[in-house]
Amino acid sequence: MNDKRIVLVVDDSETLRRICAFNLKKSGFTVLEAIDGIDALDKMRANQVDIVILDIMMPRLDGFGVLREMKRDKSLKSIPVIMLTAKGGEDDEKVAIKFGATAFLTKPFSPRELVSKVKELINDRS
Ligand SMILES: [Mg+2]
Repeated sequence: MNDKRIVLVVDDSETLRRICAFNLKKSGFTVLEAIDGIDALDKMRANQVDIVILDIMMPRLDGFGVLREMKRDKSLKSIPVIMLTAKGGEDDEKVAIKFGATAFLTKPFSPRELVSKVKELINDRS
């Protein structure tokens, strides 16, 4: 199938990436993974990514830095971004909105929440 939507999961935690990838693949998505912000931008520029799941705290370039770069890049700025925030991270949410995040998921989230949020945002675009 060539029309599978591509989800890019960006998190420095391998465990979190694995859980996300497993559940998204099970729901029919193609999943790419990035281990930090620099890797994320590289993967976005090399692939036709439909949506990004984005952690905040990461080495090299954090999630806010990734958002800022995306908004400066014509080919990346309209890709929806789901920001992963920590419990009690209302300040992070405010900053993420300012930087142009589309939605949030608070860690720890359930696979069901993740998949339904991704589907909702992808449907919004089509
Ligand atoms: Mg992290």
